Amino acid sequence: MMPSTAQELDRKSFFYNILVPVMNTYVEGLDQGKAMFLLFIKPEINTPAGLVARPVLTSYHKSSHFRDRPFNKFNVYTSPDETILCSDSRQSMYCQLLCGLVQRSEVLRVGAIFASAFLRAIKFLEDHWRQLCLNIRTGQLTDWITDPSCKNAVSLILSKPMPDLADLIERECIGISWEGIIRKLWPRTKYVEVIVTGSMAQYISTLEFYSGGLPLVSTMYASSECYFGINLKPLCKPCDVSYTLLPNMAYFEFITVIEDHDEKMQEKVHCNGKSEQKNGINEEEWIKSKIVDLVNVKVGHYYELVVTTYTGLYRYRVGDILMVTGFHNNAPQFRFVQRRNVVLSIDTDKTSEEDLLKAVTEAKLIIESLGLLLTEYTSYADTTSIPGHYVLFWELKKRENTEQLPELDLIVMEQCCYRVEESLDSVYRRCRRKDKSIGPLEIRVVKHGTFDALMDFCLSQGSSVNQYKTPRCISSQEAARVLDSRVVARFFSKKVPSWEPFRIEANKLMSDMHRAV
Ligand code: AMP
Repeated sequence: MMPSTAQELDRKSFFYNILVPVMNTYVEGLDQGKAMFLLFIKPEINTPAGLVARPVLTSYHKSSHFRDRPFNKFNVYTSPDETILCSDSRQSMYCQLLCGLVQRSEVLRVGAIFASAFLRAIKFLEDHWRQLCLNIRTGQLTDWITDPSCKNAVSLILSKPMPDLADLIERECIGISWEGIIRKLWPRTKYVEVIVTGSMAQYISTLEFYSGGLPLVSTMYASSECYFGINLKPLCKPCDVSYTLLPNMAYFEFITVIEDHDEKMQEKVHCNGKSEQKNGINEEEWIKSKIVDLVNVKVGHYYELVVTTYTGLYRYRVGDILMVTGFHNNAPQFRFVQRRNVVLSIDTDKTSEEDLLKAVTEAKLIIESLGLLLTEYTSYADTTSIPGHYVLFWELKKRENTEQLPELDLIVMEQCCYRVEESLDSVYRRCRRKDKSIGPLEIRVVKHGTFDALMDFCLSQGSSVNQYKTPRCISSQEAARVLDSRVVARFFSKKVPSWEPFRIEANKLMSDMHRAV
């Protein structure tokens, strides 16, 4: 949980406002229509201290800074605020898509904050287009939209039967392929505004399929801790995106990341979170020797971002690794490289190798009690389905030394899937249970010798035999093929893991606190 203040909302409004002229520099006529930008809020909780806690975007959208924003003809949404502020995400999604379809001839850009959320909207459209068309044809809103504010707001847009429009949308949606569906449904769209850098890059090909080649625009780089920077060349290719840090958002510092040794040293500091004598220097000296100010970063160098915010974080390590690509005037520009330690991510979840190991260790207790051993495992985030899901590859053997594959009990393996999910952190479980932005976890059991084949493959790609370690997450398609061609059984989690807004695991809290230097 990050501290926030009312004053911080001014800074966020400034940040959002500056995105508009940047876009106008590159795209003409954005004042001639609307944006179908899908925004959602999430429930808030009351902490024992009496302060409300909620996601940073919910906080902004519920604030008067958003609700009472001055009219700006370059930034008009098809979604009425009431549909954005509806806390039932299904009703909110349905109403926002309905309003976007009814106003299709006015839409000049479509999007959501992250690529994953936008693809969920497309999936929702695939599941609901018949019903949406029926509503447009009859001019009557479906009866499961019960939120009174949503109903009122939508009724002003869906004011009469529109059979011609319904026919047109139906003709597009009924086609066998949804390739280019965005251009077909919203023909004036100039670009898709979604973040596709970092872990969201995995969605680029799917977005290109649905958008029919429209530019994918990542406008901003921000976090719950602080908003960082904007993309001053919004129409560039996703792989070329750099964000210019806005120096007034926080006090920025950077830990130099030069080589493996440094990463490991940082790891040590990160894990311990306390001063420790290492290689003759303590943590404080080590950080001092590696930290540089905003003005002293160098092009081509890698850094870990450290922020001191107006809201009370001091020298806080965000966990992102950035590379300097240039300068805009004197403000440095950065390419987002990766989040430190994250191996799996589908939506807002960020699962580290350590989190995964912990969860797998819990789950393997189930099979161990049945005389089976988990000899190797790896994983990847499968985003070919919507929503995406975690896939684990497991190589198993019987405790007695035999190469024969053990009999696998469906119920037991499904329990393993569930136990892994239950042991992952609360953000993962919230995405699974509440937001439904991640699908059921899958375990693919591979035949004996598969991980040897994976090692052979990695060695053939240049890994050193001496230093080879089984990758706990695979990213190359060839490596996935090596594993997939040896799968003997697949199992999915049948239960949804638990999640409670109030439960803050002590370990997670401690590790979050240790992120502060
Ligand atoms: P959260 O605080 O949960 O919203 O997550 C913030 C984190 O999301 C950042 O620290 C980054 O790791 C990631 N993130 C946010 N914006 C971007 C972006 N434009 N490109 C890549 N990663 C991003």
